[in-house]
Amino acid sequence: MTDLISPDFTFSQSNLQTFDYCRRRFYLRYVKKLIWPAQLVSDQQYIQDREAGVRFHRLVHQHFLGFEASLLRKIADGDPDIRVATWFETFLASPMATLQGKLEPEALFTTKIAGHPLSAKVDLLQIDGENISIYDWKTSRHLPKLSTLQKQTQSKVYPLVISRALNLGQPGYETARLRMIYWEANFPGQTIEIPSYQNDWKKYQLEIAASIELILSLRREEFVATPDEKKCAWCEYRSYCQREKIAVDSKDIEMTDLLEGLTKIPAEAFDSWG
Ligand code: SF4
Repeated sequence: MTDLISPDFTFSQSNLQTFDYCRRRFYLRYVKKLIWPAQLVSDQQYIQDREAGVRFHRLVHQHFLGFEASLLRKIADGDPDIRVATWFETFLASPMATLQGKLEPEALFTTKIAGHPLSAKVDLLQIDGENISIYDWKTSRHLPKLSTLQKQTQSKVYPLVISRALNLGQPGYETARLRMIYWEANFPGQTIEIPSYQNDWKKYQLEIAASIELILSLRREEFVATPDEKKCAWCEYRSYCQREKIAVDSKDIEMTDLLEGLTKIPAEAFDSWG
């Protein structure tokens, strides 16, 4: 155990995924707390996608807070990116807009794993009788595969944190189930669902605790640079690592199998709404 990580450091799907991507990237961002020194991509497409995703996300949040649909439509229609209005209209026309039960949008939950806080801020938590679902809104350009999403840290951290917050691992809840539901605004008919049960949460807990304990055990020099230099092309810390000097173009991002390899990409870099 080193003292690089303070006892109150909160782990999340984002920083754990960053560690999986590259230990040095985790160190630079979360231990050294360095700001992004390099542009991620050489054109504005990535930034536009991210910002449009953020605004769509805000509209959906406001919808669940009870804002009038007509008012939100007006805001969406006035958005400089026409995709926002399309996504929002698609959302309103989908079953997602009329979910029943107790709905908690943008809810933050925290538990403790390996002596550290582990948090999950979910887009929407739905508790409808015995049906408990975690919804995640996406605006991806390509539909990720189920197998890709299953490997994502998010698909493990969120159910683990929620199951603990709701005491679903306790005796009497042996048959409890959580559904992680990814809804893509560009592919509204192709919702991806990942159910999980007590045995899964136990596995997630072991896996995530092992990751956290590994991070806590590393000395500064053990936060090594990824051996896969291809990853550096997408990383803002390139200049710190003497890796690739030229930012990739966002259209090259589309041409690669990045989405197939989402598990390799830190969420904060490629999640459509940041
Ligand atoms: S440039 Fe490469 S080695 Fe350096 S932090 Fe980023 S991914 Fe890791």
